[in-house]
Amino acid sequence: MSKSFEDARTLILAQVRPLAVERVDLLDAVGRAIAEPLDAGLDMPRFDNSAMDGYAVRAEDCQPGTVLPVIGYIPAGGRAEPALRPGCAVKIMTGAPLPPGADAVVPFEETDSGDAAVTIHGKVKAQDHIRFRGEDITAGQRVMEAGTTLRPAEISLLASFGCARVAVYGRPKVAILSTGDELVELGQPLTDETIINSNSWSLAAAVKEAGAEPVMLGIARDNLESLREKLTAGLTCDALITSAGVSAGDRDLVREVLEELGVQQLFWKIDIKPGRPTAFGMKGAVPVFSLPGNPVSSMITFEEFARPALLKMMGHRQVLKPLIKATLKQPVKKKPGRTHFMRVTVFAENGELVVASSGDQNTGILRTMLRANAIAILSAERERYEAGEEIQIHLLDQVTDLAN
Ligand code: AMP
Ligand code: MG
Repeated sequence: MSKSFEDARTLILAQVRPLAVERVDLLDAVGRAIAEPLDAGLDMPRFDNSAMDGYAVRAEDCQPGTVLPVIGYIPAGGRAEPALRPGCAVKIMTGAPLPPGADAVVPFEETDSGDAAVTIHGKVKAQDHIRFRGEDITAGQRVMEAGTTLRPAEISLLASFGCARVAVYGRPKVAILSTGDELVELGQPLTDETIINSNSWSLAAAVKEAGAEPVMLGIARDNLESLREKLTAGLTCDALITSAGVSAGDRDLVREVLEELGVQQLFWKIDIKPGRPTAFGMKGAVPVFSLPGNPVSSMITFEEFARPALLKMMGHRQVLKPLIKATLKQPVKKKPGRTHFMRVTVFAENGELVVASSGDQNTGILRTMLRANAIAILSAERERYEAGEEIQIHLLDQVTDLAN
C-alpha cells in the first residue's frame, strides 16, 4: 500500500475541496483566496490627471524659452477648470484633473516655476506627464481570477473599486491531536520518562501560518478508549491531523481507531524519508492526516502533504511551493528507493542560489530544522548527487545572504 511521494500528494489533493464561501471585511481577507473573479467596476484612473506638479499646457505652444501666462490653478481634488486657452498655462498638482484643452503637463523642474507667467525650459511632447483615464485598468476588464491570494496589492485594487467586503473561501478548523503515553502537556510536571508534547505546538503553528485555524485537542493515550474519544472530537472539524502512533509498533492504534470511526484509509506509508509511516484517509469531506511522532518528521510531512491540502481547502490557486534550482555545495549520498527531504540552507553567492546541508540529517536532530530555510527534494531513484550539481528545493523561509 506504500505510495511514492508524488502519488501520495496527488491523491491527497484530489480528495480535498474548497470550503464554503464567506463575505468578510477587507482587512480580514488579507492572505485569503478571493472566491469569485473580479471585473473592474471603474476605469482606473477614472479621469485624465496630472502625473506631476507643474503646468498643464498645449504641447504645440511650448518651445524652450516660451513664456506663457498662468490663468488658473487646479489642486488635487479640484475641478478641471478653467479650460486651457491656447497660448496659456494652468498650474496643476499631481492627481488633479487635466483641464479641457491641455494635452501635456510640464513639471515645475522644467520651468522657472513662475506664478503669473511661466517660462518653459525644455521641449514638451503631447501626452507628457498625463495619466489617462483607463490607461491602467478599463471598466469591465477581468482583474482577478477566483483563487487569487489577497496581498496588499489586491487589497488596494478592491479598495479602489469600492469593495469594503469581499467573498473569500472559508478557513478550515484543523483539529490537532498528539498521541502517546510518554507525553505531558506544556506546563505540566515532567518526570524522567516523559517528554513535553511539542508536536501539537509545531503543527498548530504551521496550521496558523498556512492561514487555517488550529483546534488543540491535546493528547490521546495509546489505548482504544482515549483514542476513540479524541479522534471522534477531531472528526467534527474540517480537517484532522494526528501525530505519532502510526508506525508498526503494537501500540500504534491510531489507524485502527480511525477505521472504526468510519475514516476511509487511502494509504499508509509513503516512500519518503523522513515520514515513511504517514497515513491519509477521508471521512466525508474531512481529510485525516496521520503523521509520524518524531518532531522533525511531523513538521516535514505537514509541509509536504497537509499544507498544500489546507491551501486547497482555502481556495488558493497556488498550493504547492515552486521548485527552485540551486547549486549543491557538497556531494550527497542516499539510498535509492525513497524520496529524501533534506533540510538545507540556501543562500545567495555572487547572485546565484547555492545550497548546503543544514547539518545532521538524522530525524532526531531538531537543530538541523532550525538552521534550514529550505527543503531539498532528492529523488527516489538517485543514490548520489555531486557537488556543483543543480538540485530542486522549495523554500521554507527567505533566502539568506552569505554575508549574514
Ligand atoms: P512514534 O511515532 O509514536 O513512534 O514516536 C516517535 C518519536 O516521536 C518518539 O521518540 C516520541 O517520543 C516522539 N514524539 C511523539 N509524539 C510527540 C509529541 N507530541 N511531541 C514531541 N515528541 C513526540
Ligand atoms: Mg508512540
